[in-house]
Amino acid sequence: MKAVCFWRKNEVRVVDVPDPKILNPHDAIVRVTLTAICGSDLHLYDGYVPTMMKGDILGHEFMGEVVEVGSEVRTLKPGDRVIVPFPIACGRCFYCQQQLWSLCDNTNPNAWMVEAMYGFSGAALFGYSHLYGGYAGGQAEYVRVPFADVSPLKIPDGLSDEQVLFLTDIFPTGYMAAEFCEIKAGDVVAVWGCGPVGQFAVKSARLLGADRVIAIDRFPERLRLAREQSEAETIDYSEVDDVFTALKEMTGGRGPDACIDAVGMEAHGHTIDALYDRVKQTMRLEMDRSHVLRQALHCCRKGGIVSIPGVYAGFIDKVPFGAAFGKGLKLRMGQCHVQRYTRPLLDRIERGEIDPSFVITHRVTLDDAPEMYPVFRDKQDECIKVVMRPS
Ligand SMILES: [Zn+2]
Ligand SMILES: [Zn+2]
Repeated sequence: MKAVCFWRKNEVRVVDVPDPKILNPHDAIVRVTLTAICGSDLHLYDGYVPTMMKGDILGHEFMGEVVEVGSEVRTLKPGDRVIVPFPIACGRCFYCQQQLWSLCDNTNPNAWMVEAMYGFSGAALFGYSHLYGGYAGGQAEYVRVPFADVSPLKIPDGLSDEQVLFLTDIFPTGYMAAEFCEIKAGDVVAVWGCGPVGQFAVKSARLLGADRVIAIDRFPERLRLAREQSEAETIDYSEVDDVFTALKEMTGGRGPDACIDAVGMEAHGHTIDALYDRVKQTMRLEMDRSHVLRQALHCCRKGGIVSIPGVYAGFIDKVPFGAAFGKGLKLRMGQCHVQRYTRPLLDRIERGEIDPSFVITHRVTLDDAPEMYPVFRDKQDECIKVVMRPS
């Protein structure tokens, strides 16, 4: 089959590789009909994840048709059309039982690597380095899906692939970030970063009843999309003196009730920088993004909530913890428990409350991946989200 493979830093290749096989009686094989490049794939592409190996198949946002199932699979059969959440979950462990799917205890065979850094490891992820399990990803014609009875969600015929694909990651990720904000009538929510996850955070804050959403970015096309799709108010941070003052003025001097940090190439977050080089990791994260977290902590009103779907992998410096304490802030963060949201968000799509395809700007095939990765990374051609068909 054809697959998009990591080759080296700044290079992916489309390679002919062996078709995946059933390795465990709980596996299914899915023929991919649509997949996407995610912001967090760029971190792999940029060579920041040391356990990526030449030839690893990328991709964790994918859907398709079940073509084969193992002997123990009960809920799926060939011909079913499914979306597959990016965290791989066993469905039985202490964490899965509590719907904390991205913290599954059983699916990462390389958990020891993460344990060395964090004490404990979360779930394995599709197509996301050996640190996260070494599972082949979905930017391919076929994928092996382990624990096939646990996570895949069957999709009714009336909905297009483009309408449901983002249930695998970025829609639930943005939604969970908004849900963390405990939105009440009258609330004002500020969202830093209007990439795909930021767009879904903005939209979800509206769906959950925020009175006003203020979106902050510097790319005009992203701010325009947030205004047009979610009636957001916007701040172009390259054009204001000070985001804090702008937000204060827009909120009658009080500050936003909740602040969402959805900034960065891997805003929805499943990235770890250099495992073997914590110092370097700290430096890079420090440069990349902690200024947004600082700003969110600084801008949030007293007693408010700061929600962080953006990735933090190591140590961060100069975080105004005193401000967080002094204002009695509540912090929420972490990798999305996608499986908790797929069914209720599919219901919202079916009811016409949202059509997630609004973020798609580029539609290509797997063969175009080597050209599209840099276009997406560098935001050329007003690129916000890329989807890929097999051919
Ligand atoms: Zn992703
Ligand atoms: Zn589990």
